Amino acid sequence: MVRDYLIIGAGPAGLQLAASLERDGRDYAVLERGSGPGTFFTRYPRHRQLISINKVNTGYTDPELNLRMDWNSLLGDDPELLLTRYTDEYFPRADDLVRYLADFADRTGVRVEYGTEVVRVSRADGVFTVHDAAGRTRQARRLVVATGVSRLNEPPIPGIELAERYDTFDPDPASFTNQRVLIVGKGNSAFETADALMAKAAVIHVAGPHSLKMAWKTHFVGHLRAVNNNFLDSYQLKSQNAVLDGTVENIEKTADGGFHVTFRYARTTERLRELHYDRIILCAGFRFDASVFDETCRPALVIDDRFPEQTSAYESVNVPGLYFAGTLTQQRDFKKGTNGFIHGFRYGVRALHRILGARHHDTPWPARPLTAAPEEIADAVVARVNRSSGLWQQFGVLGDVVTVDGDRAQYQEEVPLAYVTDGGLGPAAHRFVVDLEYGPDHDGVDPFDVTVPRVTENDVEHAMDSSYLHPVVRHYRDGVLAGTHHLAENLENEWDVPAVHQQPLAAFVKACLG
Ligand SMILES: Cc1cc2nc3c(=O)[nH]c(=O)nc-3n(C[C@H](O)[C@H](O)[C@H](O)COP(=O)(O)OP(=O)(O)OC[C@H]3O[C@@H](n4cnc5c(N)ncnc54)[C@H](O)[C@@H]3O)c2cc1C
Repeated sequence: MVRDYLIIGAGPAGLQLAASLERDGRDYAVLERGSGPGTFFTRYPRHRQLISINKVNTGYTDPELNLRMDWNSLLGDDPELLLTRYTDEYFPRADDLVRYLADFADRTGVRVEYGTEVVRVSRADGVFTVHDAAGRTRQARRLVVATGVSRLNEPPIPGIELAERYDTFDPDPASFTNQRVLIVGKGNSAFETADALMAKAAVIHVAGPHSLKMAWKTHFVGHLRAVNNNFLDSYQLKSQNAVLDGTVENIEKTADGGFHVTFRYARTTERLRELHYDRIILCAGFRFDASVFDETCRPALVIDDRFPEQTSAYESVNVPGLYFAGTLTQQRDFKKGTNGFIHGFRYGVRALHRILGARHHDTPWPARPLTAAPEEIADAVVARVNRSSGLWQQFGVLGDVVTVDGDRAQYQEEVPLAYVTDGGLGPAAHRFVVDLEYGPDHDGVDPFDVTVPRVTENDVEHAMDSSYLHPVVRHYRDGVLAGTHHLAENLENEWDVPAVHQQPLAAFVKACLG
């Protein structure tokens, strides 16, 4: 039997897509090697606290606005199926997310075959054949890979195999008491680990070649989060810990059971340094596991081969019918947007579901009719930018689209911006594309430096110079960019002051259509 869809992985992404296919009565199955939903979060993060916020008390009653402050819930039709109903911890426990995902799977009735490890995927005559560890095979016309980043990233350092690994080490701090510890990697899992060891270890060095970037400055939530940066205090306030900028060149075991490390500094004259540690932990991130694909359908890889290369429709660039969902889609907005995280990719999964509907099930992208009156278009845009959680979370990646045809228009929500420019919605004489964006220099500005001049809020004249998040509307005439309008930024992200937001936008739309 050849199904329409096979989904590999019952993590957040696979579950949400399956729930949409289940609701639509599509022919699909999910294959999951774990014994239940959300297997990844039964183990990670190793110190069990999520870094995705769960802000229960927002002062809002609008569920869409609440999703702006809820970075963990999946998108669905059941208002009770929200993580905010399971815990009110701001940074929730991973175990609560696992509990929530199990209920999500149960209540949506998704068809998952647990305990099913996919070991090989092949493709012939447009059909995928998926082989599992028990020797069974299944076939489908389309394959959605939602397997996450299931392999630890191992930089090519001689002796790295001697190090303990983030995915398997014993996180109990007691065993690190009074020890010198080297942590290889500079991401959140490295600092999460350093933070957990600070009270027990004598000395902790966190090492990596790249400059440390703070998420609050770059607005990329995968950079170092404040919740994980206590360690920096202990470094700069001389408490025996340090961040080492450079590369670990070599690791050797010493007779006393410790390790000898050769380190190359990135920015000092003293190029090489010999260091000694009792323990070394590898925390250099994760990568996609492409090993299951045979030569008939091996996806092209990018970003040091860590992620599958995808089109704007989340499809492999070289294997037709092979789609990706979840954290794997971060290839599309690497180290800029939120596709790597639940609060981002949940909208990507919704977009993928709509793309599959339009391509394979005669279900066009949902659209709402409008007149082509500039005021009505401006009002519709202002209403959405002030409410949408999808545009908020997927800034600079997803946008709303207003297509104008004579005196009529239609409004479509949360379309990947690249999918629009790639012609995914078809041709149009006039199209307005709306998204939320930070200014081009946003990650270079120190928001706390009062000596740095910045655009004041509600400043219509200088709206285009805004560094902070604000709505941007682009006009395309016959697919070619013809004009751009910035709505003035606002302290509380309320872009609904008529004279500041609606009226200038209506004037822009009028001029474009004029
Ligand atoms: C250390 C770490 C911490 C993170 N913390 C957060 C966080 O706090 N908040 C957040 O929003 N994001 C976080 N992320 C990012 C991201 O959200 C997670 O990676 C999330 O798990 C991605 O969801 P997913 O559905 O894409 O994949 P996953 O949740 O990884 O699900 C993939 C599923 O596929 C299954 N699978 C894999 N290979 C096979 C196979 N061959 N056969 C069958 N099944 C298979 C796995 O068992 C797993 O259940 C974190 C990432 C890492 C690495």
